[in-house]
Amino acid sequence: MSHVGDLLWQRLTGLMPGELQKTELGWLIWPQQHLTLLTRRRATMIVNRVRLFAFLFAFLFAVLTPVWSIVDFMVFERSLWLSLAAMRLGACAAFVTLLLCYRPSGSLPDAYRAMAILFAIPTLFYISSHTLLGTYALTGIPAAIGAGYAFLPFVLLAGLAIFPLTLLESTLIASPILIAQGVAGMLNWVTLNWPSFVGAFWLLALITGVSALAGMSQLAFMIALVRQAIRDPLTGTFSRRSGEEMLEMQFVLSRRSAAPLAIAFLDLDHFKRINDGHGHEAGDQALTRFAERIGQTLRRGDMLIRWGGEEFLLIMPNSDIGQAGQAIGRLREAGFGLRPDGAPLTASIGIAERIADRCEDWKELVDLADRRMYTAKEAGRDRFVATDGIPVADPASLFIAIHPRPEAD
Ligand code: GH3
Ligand code: MG
Ligand code: MG
Repeated sequence: MSHVGDLLWQRLTGLMPGELQKTELGWLIWPQQHLTLLTRRRATMIVNRVRLFAFLFAFLFAVLTPVWSIVDFMVFERSLWLSLAAMRLGACAAFVTLLLCYRPSGSLPDAYRAMAILFAIPTLFYISSHTLLGTYALTGIPAAIGAGYAFLPFVLLAGLAIFPLTLLESTLIASPILIAQGVAGMLNWVTLNWPSFVGAFWLLALITGVSALAGMSQLAFMIALVRQAIRDPLTGTFSRRSGEEMLEMQFVLSRRSAAPLAIAFLDLDHFKRINDGHGHEAGDQALTRFAERIGQTLRRGDMLIRWGGEEFLLIMPNSDIGQAGQAIGRLREAGFGLRPDGAPLTASIGIAERIADRCEDWKELVDLADRRMYTAKEAGRDRFVATDGIPVADPASLFIAIHPRPEAD
């Protein structure tokens, strides 16, 4: 059974080479496990697409309203014409308001709301114009023109294709329109030309399916791009740019919830000697192994960033300085891998914490950890420093590092 699964998987990935990794496949179905950065960029893109759509619709309504009004004027009676013109102007005004009032905030609920409003405007327009036209017994040309209004659901569901959505999201957004269409059909079943209704409903469902696929393929492309943008290609850790974004976000979060936020600045010791003695390739391997080792010991929620060549930054949310010290002690105990000559690879480490060190922004926190890393270097490397007091080589003596020795009388 798993053999068949593997075969299917290979076939599938063969069709989209290098696009998605196995763990990322579920991300196409529902948004639960998306990385925060992906969510933020997706929310921004959705709102931008909503605004593009609103602009196009507003433009379309603004240009077409006078034209349609002339046509309506010629074929419909005066009161129907007036009501239709008023509805068109209302829809146009609603699109313009959406365009002017909505800006991307990076929050997904905001993006959902923007989409809901975007889809609600034409749906309301459709329902009201449809109900209105239904009360008039139209025949001939007026009936043909009235039938033109029935295309709106098709336009809406085809429009879903421009959003980077998961399968679940597309389904949830499309289903009210499909259900409304189905219910309307059932209510008018007696007078309905049902073969043509079923045909139209089937077409609507097909369009929804194709749009959902298009949305998922946009999302897959976005996932791959975000991964490339946020990961360092050599070590697979977060890149400096995305690291800064995360620090900023974590700092705001920790301040809002009054929770501690610790970071560690790690600089590998005598790394140049590896390059000089064994070549750049051996240096690269040591870096990759170092990141792997830390990755294995890391707590869920901790984030490792490659800050510069052989410098790394570890973000530890909800850790006070004592917990961060313990975590670093564990990492050092597990080891950072070996140098090409068989000796253990070591690092000098500086730790800082938002509350204990009274930092006002994340840059201050990083500067402090960096300074303490230098203190560790000067004190002889292969150790960590958690205060501006005394550097420690032994995690058991962390207490001394946190609380500087009392002054001798
Ligand atoms: P110290 O203990 O004082 O930190 O000594 P060091 O040799 O590690 O310090 P230094 O900052 O002088 O040297 C860092 C070296 O890391 C220099 C550079 O050649 C090497 N390096 C930076 N990025 C990479 C990389 O991506 N691959 C390899 N192989 N080497 C790198
Ligand atoms: Mg360095
Ligand atoms: Mg170094």
